[in-house]
This record gives sequence, C-alpha cells and structure tokens, in this order.
Amino acid sequence: MSTDVMIEARDLSKVYGSYRAIDRLNFKIKKGEVVGFLGPNGAGKSTTMRILTCFIGPSSGTAIVGGNDVFANPLGARSIVGYLPQRAPLYPEMGVIEYLQFAANIRAIPQLERKMSIRKVIDICGLADALEKDIGELSHGYRQRVGLAQALLHNPPILILDEPTSDLDPNEKAEFIEYLKAIGKDRTVMLSTHNLAEVEASCPRVIIVSRGKIVADGGPTDLAARSGKARYVMILDEQSRTSPSGSAHRSSGGLPLGEVLEGIRQTIPSAETKELPSDEREHVIQILAPSTKDFRRELFSLAVDKGWVLLELRREVIQLEEVFRDLTVGAEAGSRLDKAGIRRAAEEDDEDEDDDEDEDDQDEDGEDEDDDDDKEEDDKSRSKS
Ligand code: ADP
Repeated sequence: MSTDVMIEARDLSKVYGSYRAIDRLNFKIKKGEVVGFLGPNGAGKSTTMRILTCFIGPSSGTAIVGGNDVFANPLGARSIVGYLPQRAPLYPEMGVIEYLQFAANIRAIPQLERKMSIRKVIDICGLADALEKDIGELSHGYRQRVGLAQALLHNPPILILDEPTSDLDPNEKAEFIEYLKAIGKDRTVMLSTHNLAEVEASCPRVIIVSRGKIVADGGPTDLAARSGKARYVMILDEQSRTSPSGSAHRSSGGLPLGEVLEGIRQTIPSAETKELPSDEREHVIQILAPSTKDFRRELFSLAVDKGWVLLELRREVIQLEEVFRDLTVGAEAGSRLDKAGIRRAAEEDDEDEDDDEDEDDQDEDGEDEDDDDDKEEDDKSRSKS
C-alpha cells in the first residue's frame, strides 16, 4: 500500500445472517483528505465505520487503516484513529474534565502528557466554558464537542466521525463544521452525514453508498456535473396571455397547467416536469433536462408561440442533493421492485461465499458473534431504516 493511503477498504463485506449490509466496498482515502460518506439510512455507513475502527469484524475482505490490517493488527489501527460513533460514548454524571481524564486513561496516554493532551483538546473543541459542568447538563452541541474531544485526545492522524451533526441545531451544526475544518487541516477525516449542504461546504470528496454498495465517488461538483442533468425553473403568469402583437392581457380562462406541461413535453421529450409551490397567480415549473444542451431558447420560443406570459426563466446547476436522490432513491425504489427477483438472484450467486462468511461470524461456541453483540443495536438500526 502506498504510504499516502491512510484508509483502504478491499472488497469489504458484512453479512448479518442472510442480510448483506455492505457488499464488496473498495475505496482508498489518502493522507489529508476530508471525505464525506453519504447514503440513506440503512445504506451501510455505520457498519463500514465500525469495521474501520475495529468495533466489528468484516465477513469478508479487509481494511487497512494507517498501514494496519484490521484483522492482523486491530490495536495498531485503533491507536491511530479517533472515532466518534453516532451515539457518543458519554457519561452524563461525569464532569467534562473527569470524563476526559477517564478517556485519556483508557487510551493509555502517558501520565506526563495527559494534562497537556486534555488542555489541547479543550482548546481545539472550544470547551473552556463547559469545564465546570457535568456532561448531562450540556447542550447537544457541547456534548458533541466533548465526544470530539475524546476522539482527538491521542492526537490521531485519522478521524472517523459517524453523523456527528445529526442532533445539532443549525447554529451548532455550523459551529461544529468550523471546528471540523480546523481539525481536518492536518488530518485524514471520514465523516458520515445526511446533511448535503454540510458536505458541499466541508468535504472535497464524497463517497455515496446505497444498499451496501458504492454508487458514486468524487468531488461534489464533479458528481453534480456527472448527473448529466440541468434544472430549469420557468415562471408563467397564470391569469394572462399575450396577444399576437405581444401585449399581455388578462385571460378569462387563465393558463391551464396541463397546457404548459404538455407544451414543455413536446418541446423537450426527455424532460421531467414538476410544478413547484406558488401562489395562484403564477405557475412555477421545474424542468429537469439533459445537460448536453441549453434549452432556454426553446423554452422562451415555446412561451412566445403559445402566448404565455413568461415572468422568469432560469437554468440552475444541479445540486449534490439531486444527485444523491437520483442515485439512492432510484436504487431504493429499484430495491423495492426487485427485492424478490434481482436481489435474491444476486444473493444466490453469492451463496457459497455467504456460507463461508457466516462461518467467519461464528464464535467458538458456534454462535453468531455479531448477532449477539449487536442485537440491541440491530433493533435500533432496523427501526431507523
Ligand atoms: P447506515 O449507517 O447507513 O444507516 P448501517 O450500517 O447502520 O446503515 O446498517 C446497514 C444495514 O445493516 C441496515 O439494514 C441495518 O438494519 C443492518 N444492520 C446494522 N447492524 C446490524 C446488526 N448488528 N445486526 C443485523 N443487522 C444490522
């Protein structure tokens, strides 16, 4: 492995019983990269992160973290990773300092360095105002900062953060992202989140997973461009039309929405149209069309030919959110449609391998380790997804 690569997943899979939570993931994250790990609930983000941080083992494939194979050298991998799980391991009855001392103890940070390490994370995570309080008295935002502080105590070069902002209000989110940007300057960061704006603001690279597979990997702007679609917003006066001379006049019948949608479909046959919310004086139409061509001229001519009063026409760059929905909602819908067919066929293909994998999951007593260890979490995950 190149020394530049800090995290590498090689054909990483995890099977729970007969359910394949992640399916042959392959990716490399280089030193200094800040990568957003995106996907709908149940896509396999936490499972991947828990494997990378050696909390659970993969069923097949492996991961190399900072040069340490998670199978062969889990302690080596853990020692250079700071991990903030979805539910940060905090004890509400402990004071902030007391908790950080406890975490430093678990991390076996030498006594002489301990004070310094704690002081440093208090500073980095902006905890100075919270030192007098018990963790249970802190706001969500401050609690999350304490979680981040414990993840940073041993000054790890790699940070893995599982939905660190999910419980925060918008102000706390913005603040947390600022801390993260500062912390990420000299670290490799992998961050899972649902907040796409957050990813666009802080992650130069995004990996999108859906149903346990990687469906996209690249810069947010590149991914948006790769969607191959452009969005137009067309706003038309609902109550008037133009006469052949071009002047607008109030029309008794108004402008029916059906006429507009039909006209657009005839002009751009591949367009997807949708009416956006508006007051009763306007039709606001969103049009998704191939980005290979700029259709503004055609849409303008259509409005002129039909006598529609065009109030506004704009072409917008597709945002990451739409790419995300395109890649994952489609897959989820496909999954619902195909669940009985394609997915099962794929599973049959993998049957032999699954048998091996299931064996891997058996502990010495012949019981399924993960099922035992993670039963409670499983219930939560399933209800979440
Ligand atoms: P995400 O983090 O993307 O929401 P997870 O990695 O938590 O997804 O879960 C992926 C899938 O694996 C989900 O369908 C979830 O229900 C299932 N899963 C997660 N943990 C367990 C477990 N311990 N036992 C059984 N199924 C699990």
